[in-house]
Amino acid sequence: MSATAMPAMVAVAAAPAGCAGASGGRSHGTMTVAHEGGSEAMAFTVLVVEDEPKLRELIRGFLERERLAVLTTGSGADAIALGARSSPDLVVLDLGLPDIAGVEVARELRREGDPLLVMLTALATEADRIRGFELGADDYLVKPFSVRELVLRVLALLRRGRCS
Ligand code: CA
Repeated sequence: MSATAMPAMVAVAAAPAGCAGASGGRSHGTMTVAHEGGSEAMAFTVLVVEDEPKLRELIRGFLERERLAVLTTGSGADAIALGARSSPDLVVLDLGLPDIAGVEVARELRREGDPLLVMLTALATEADRIRGFELGADDYLVKPFSVRELVLRVLALLRRGRCS
């Protein structure tokens, strides 16, 4: 992938306000990630479950630029195993997987731990989206989507999760 790296500051500034509501004081900046200068790794692990290799690697690249630890797989069975073994903070889950239905994977992941869950799907009806949220999605993107937007949503969710 070529060099249009998204600066971390853009992500922080553009993300929704997260948990700032309570006191309004220290809103932004709690999750400011490693810029030039201090290279402090973020302690978040994201599992990307997507069976299209090109999309999977694209998402991985964008997330790694944000200093997230990224695990990837194209298989639902692997996703369940990785979820149990690695306790990811957040899972990006394609619902259309070749081996196990994404909704089943989501259910298993929820049983093992309580990762934040961002679902990816080609389905676009309102009923599908509602179903996704009923299955515990914290966010939901319909393909084709902007990978940058996905990353912003992931960062926003992680930040919110961290301060709750
Ligand atoms: Ca798929």
